[in-house]
Amino acid sequence: MVLEGGDHVEGDEVLFATGRKPRTEDIGLETVGLTPGSWLDVDDTLRVAGSDWLYAVGDVNHRALMTHQGKYQARIAGAVIAGRARGGDASRTPGGGRARGHRRPRRRPAGRVQRPRGGGRRLSLAEAERAGRRVRAVDLDMRSVAGAGLYAQGYRGHARMVVDLDREVVLGAAFVGPGIGELLHSATVAVAGEVPIARLWHAVPAYPTLSEVWLRLLEAYRG
Ligand SMILES: Cc1cc2nc3c(=O)[nH]c(=O)nc-3n(C[C@H](O)[C@H](O)[C@H](O)COP(=O)(O)OP(=O)(O)OC[C@H]3O[C@@H](n4cnc5c(N)ncnc54)[C@H](O)[C@@H]3O)c2cc1C
Repeated sequence: MVLEGGDHVEGDEVLFATGRKPRTEDIGLETVGLTPGSWLDVDDTLRVAGSDWLYAVGDVNHRALMTHQGKYQARIAGAVIAGRARGGDASRTPGGGRARGHRRPRRRPAGRVQRPRGGGRRLSLAEAERAGRRVRAVDLDMRSVAGAGLYAQGYRGHARMVVDLDREVVLGAAFVGPGIGELLHSATVAVAGEVPIARLWHAVPAYPTLSEVWLRLLEAYRG
């Protein structure tokens, strides 16, 4: 392929990444003082800014454009709306009635449909460093995990854990390789729960599974 500037790029496949935009042009936003075609800015109870009755969940609020996050937001919004309808305090709804983690990407799991499969639990190293944290990234070739060999012959994969050195908790984890989608929730629990590294040592992964990656990452961290 020849780019505008004359550069040649060679590849096996071409990915068109066109981005996403809200389909809100023709749903009457202007009738409630909002701008047609815009994302719907919401607070942590999923209520649209500038409205006391309109809620927006899913991609349209531009907080976390993933299926599982949209479903999570729907559960929060449902509880909040019911709580407010009863005249109660929205914060007393299940889970606190507030969507957590949308402004704080470290609490958000992300998986991508790709081969090899890749996914992670934020923060990435770069994001953590930009946020001014004292962090260390621990990298691991997943071939060193016994369960990986059983999962697929010639398994190739990589894991990275980002640790907050001041608090000794896991800030993020990222995995690439076959089957890693099943690792994401363990990363979610570790990050959302702010589980101390010292305690993670006692969460013993079964042998032989891909989850043993956690043990290898802890060993690599300890050096
Ligand atoms: C290529 C691709 C791959 C993805 N892969 C993943 C993945 O692996 N994991 C993941 O978690 N997320 C993934 N996503 C993101 C995921 O699809 C979205 O985050 C999710 O679908 C958002 O759900 P939603 O209900 O907010 O919106 P949508 O699923 O877009 O649903 C909105 C619905 O509203 C309808 N609609 C729009 N306007 C109107 C109207 N005026 N009247 C009536 N109906 C209307 C639309 O037709 C649509 O059915 C992917 C997205 C893309 C594009």
